[in-house]
Amino acid sequence: MTTSPANQPTAIKADRQAGLVSVDWADGHHSEFDATTLRLLCPCAYCQGEAGRPGWLDTNPALTSIQTQIVDMRLVGQYALAPTWADGHDTGYYTYEALRENCPCAICATDRGAG
Ligand SMILES: [Zn+2]
Ligand SMILES: [Zn+2]
Repeated sequence: MTTSPANQPTAIKADRQAGLVSVDWADGHHSEFDATTLRLLCPCAYCQGEAGRPGWLDTNPALTSIQTQIVDMRLVGQYALAPTWADGHDTGYYTYEALRENCPCAICATDRGAG
């Protein structure tokens, strides 16, 4: 559990119509995830695999519109977001830390490329 402001959201907004999730961070940074990006980051064992076994996302699936549609979004304790997808999938707990690490903005993408 980290308390770094970079991993501390101050506001989380899910626009289900637009399929956008935006997060304001305590250090002033702002992240915007489109639903497809978010689904591809799903950290659950089914999507990412476990114990060395590949997951569903490792098969490069063609995502259907219901697989990239957010129908609900809940907070898990103080540390994670859990979206429910239109295909019923809801076992992915996206920790704030992982969300920040995968921030798709140009600044973070450049940082990751450099690091
Ligand atoms: Zn998943
Ligand atoms: Zn960023």
